[in-house]
Amino acid sequence: KPKIIWFRRDLRLSDQAAVAAASDSPVIPVYILDDETPKHRIMGGASRWWLHRSLEELEACLQSLGSRLILRQGPAAEHLAEIVKSSGADEIHALHHYEPWWINAERMLEKSLGDEARLILHDGNYLLPPGTVTTGAGTPYKIYTPFWKALRQHMPPGEAAPAPESLDAPDNWPDSDALDDWGLLPTKPNWAAAFGDHWQPGSAGAEDNLEDFADKAADYDEGRNLPSEELVSRLSPHLHFGEISPATVWNRLAGQGSKVETYLKELVWRDYAQNVIDQFPQYGGESYREKMRALPWRDLGDDAVKADFGAWCQGRTGYPIVDAGMRELWATGWMHNRVRMIAASFLIKHLLIDWREGEKWFWDTLVDADYASNSVNWQWVSGTGVDSNMFVRIMAPLTQSEKFDAGDYIRQWVPELAEIDDPYIHDPEDHGCRPADYPAKIIGHKEARQRALGAYAKVK
Ligand code: FAD
Repeated sequence: KPKIIWFRRDLRLSDQAAVAAASDSPVIPVYILDDETPKHRIMGGASRWWLHRSLEELEACLQSLGSRLILRQGPAAEHLAEIVKSSGADEIHALHHYEPWWINAERMLEKSLGDEARLILHDGNYLLPPGTVTTGAGTPYKIYTPFWKALRQHMPPGEAAPAPESLDAPDNWPDSDALDDWGLLPTKPNWAAAFGDHWQPGSAGAEDNLEDFADKAADYDEGRNLPSEELVSRLSPHLHFGEISPATVWNRLAGQGSKVETYLKELVWRDYAQNVIDQFPQYGGESYREKMRALPWRDLGDDAVKADFGAWCQGRTGYPIVDAGMRELWATGWMHNRVRMIAASFLIKHLLIDWREGEKWFWDTLVDADYASNSVNWQWVSGTGVDSNMFVRIMAPLTQSEKFDAGDYIRQWVPELAEIDDPYIHDPEDHGCRPADYPAKIIGHKEARQRALGAYAKVK
């Protein structure tokens, strides 16, 4: 009997336990674009661009092994149950995912399968499955540092399983959609026109990024906060879509010893975020700290607030480092982590706009948009989360800019400021050299700080 491999955010053939477990029988690889299962968070625009390119690559890899990729659109449980019926498959193999909608889809699927076939879930998209490392009391960790220390004890992960050399085909292939008919790529306007210059979605691109990074991983500790230097791995979209396993990344780099410890520690933030979502599935939708839910955010229904939010989205706040980040995001679908923190803090504290609005904008515009990592980081910046920076620690964007950028990052993404000398580029307005085509600051730092502290005083 054939077995189904149900791909989700695990679009790879190496170190993919569902592929390994199914490949001793004829296999039917399936990907379902599911925007309909209840509680489903519809994938954002930038992620859809990535998905299209990644599925193209996965399909080509499967074809080179003698197989295919069956594409379906709609509720996953219904499609899988139908494929089981028409093919006689008795097992569906998939990797575990912890977003609430996937848990929902799995429950629905198990119900509709009855005794006809089994859903078999495997680990492998995280260094360790959420909930595995626990406190002395046997409860899952809520705070990052003890989580990291406990997880570190279980590393290194096991060696990666290689991709199969061939895959047997079933007697009959189920119907498949054509990828091009899904309309995942933007047309008019084609806002993703430049994405292809920055990214190669798919496992081959992931492995290339890992190899490039391996040569400079020892510089990560010092360089990771400098957005103009190319010293971070840019693996996040590849890891999000599961084109490479975190175990592969760990094992490739860990041989470099203590020099890469900072990197491994960052990689574990991804596991930590998933561990939080596993405990608090609604984390993306509301502040974890109850008292912070009453924070008097400015109302987006108000035109002035809407205009401020628009300026932030478009990178026209008058704060060069924030604007550079927001424009990098728009042009490439990614933003450097240090600048993500500055831009997020600016929205929440300087503009006093609900973190959930920023989270949604990132969800739509990031190629690495990830329910767990996005919401955990937004709640960390906003001081509303389970393990958070304090709300009253208000990042000063100009100080951050001077500390982490010599000016090159701003120059790259804000061409209006390209001619301004280093010491002035962080705050051209204050130095009387703001070009006419670059906006004035939408709010002063002191005034914003006071407003944010006043808002916090009402809930603390
Ligand atoms: P590197 O510095 O090379 O790190 C290696 C890997 O570790 C990353 O690819 C990522 O998988 C993981 N990682 C590193 N830092 C974090 C972190 N703070 N949280 C979780 N995982 C981390 N990351 C996402 O993958 N998806 C998101 O939707 C996302 N939203 C964010 C929103 C905000 C407001 C902030 C401040 C951060 C967000 N991050 C998110 C975390 C981080 O910014 C990105 O993972 C990182 O910038 C990706 O670049 P990189 O692959 O070069 O990272």
